[in-house]
Amino acid sequence: MDVGGELFYAEHFAARAGLVTDVDEVLYDRRSPYQRITVLQTPAFGRMLLLDGAVMLTEWDEFIYHEMLVHPALFLLPQPRRVLVIGGGDGGTVREIVRHPSIERVDVVEIDAEVVTVAREFFPAISAAFEDSRVQLHFCDGAEFVARAEDASYDAVIVDSTDPVGIAASLFGEAFYEHCRRILVPEGVFAMQSESPLHPVFRQTLPTVHRLLRRYYRYVSTCLAPIPTYPTGVWSFTVASSRWDPARDLQPEAAWQRYQRLEGKLRYYTPELHQAAFVLPVFVQELLSSAS
Ligand code: SAM
Repeated sequence: MDVGGELFYAEHFAARAGLVTDVDEVLYDRRSPYQRITVLQTPAFGRMLLLDGAVMLTEWDEFIYHEMLVHPALFLLPQPRRVLVIGGGDGGTVREIVRHPSIERVDVVEIDAEVVTVAREFFPAISAAFEDSRVQLHFCDGAEFVARAEDASYDAVIVDSTDPVGIAASLFGEAFYEHCRRILVPEGVFAMQSESPLHPVFRQTLPTVHRLLRRYYRYVSTCLAPIPTYPTGVWSFTVASSRWDPARDLQPEAAWQRYQRLEGKLRYYTPELHQAAFVLPVFVQELLSSAS
C-alpha cells in the first residue's frame, strides 16, 4: 500500500490486527495462472514472498519454518532416502531435506512453476537446492500427483502448502491423506504445516487434520514454533507415522550424531528442541481434544 508516497505492507488475521512493515521496494508483482506473486524488499524482514497477499516467507525468519517442517520428521527415520515434497515452490523445504547425507531423491510437486522462477531470481540462497542433482521438480497439482504415485515409493511425504483454501484446499482433504499413506513405506513419516492454533479462522484446521490422519497412522503429533511474520506469530507442524511416535521415539544420542553430520549448520532445530516442541500448551491440548 502506498500512503502519501510511503510504501508499506499489512497482513491482518483479525480486524486491523496483524503484521505491518515499511516497504523499500516492490521487486515483483504479477498474477500467475494460479495466484498473485509479490516480492517486497523491506528494512525489517529483508525480502518477503507473498502469495495472494499472504506472507509465505521472509529472509528474517524463514529458517524457523523450514527447519521445523522438515527435521522433526526426517530425524525420526534412521536412513531417509526418498522424500516427496508437495508445494514448497520457494525451495526452503528442499534445502533442509538435502542436508541429510542419506537422501538419494527428492520429488518436489509444485502447482505453480512461476513461484519457482521467482524464487530462483529473488531468493537464490533459499532456492539453490533446486539445482541439486537429487532433486526432481514436477509442475502439477499435488493431489493429482499422489493419486498417480506408486504404493510404498517414499520414506517421507512433506506438505509445504499455502492455507487450506483455493488451490490448496485439496491438500487438506481425506482423499489426499489416504493416497499419501498408500505411497509411504509402512514405517514412513508424513509431515505438514498445520496452520496457527491461535488463528480465528484456520485454528480449526488442527483438530480436523488430527481426526483425519488418525484414520491412517498410529501416531499423530503436533509441535509448535514461533514464526513472527506469520499470522498470530505461532505456527504448528503435524507429524504422523505408524512406526515412530514423533513426540517420544527420537533417539537423542543417535540424533545428535546425525545432527553433527548434516550439511551446513541449523539455526533453530536441535534434538533437544524436538522433544520440547511436542509438549503442547493447555489451549492447544484442549483444541485437539475436540478432534476425538
Ligand atoms: N510456508 C508457506 C505457508 O505456510 O503458507 C508455504 C510456502 S510454499 C511457497 C506453498 C506452495 O504451495 C506455493 O508455491 C503454492 O503454489 C503451492 N501449492 C498450493 N496448492 C498446491 C497444490 N494443490 N499442489 C501443489 N502445490 C500447491
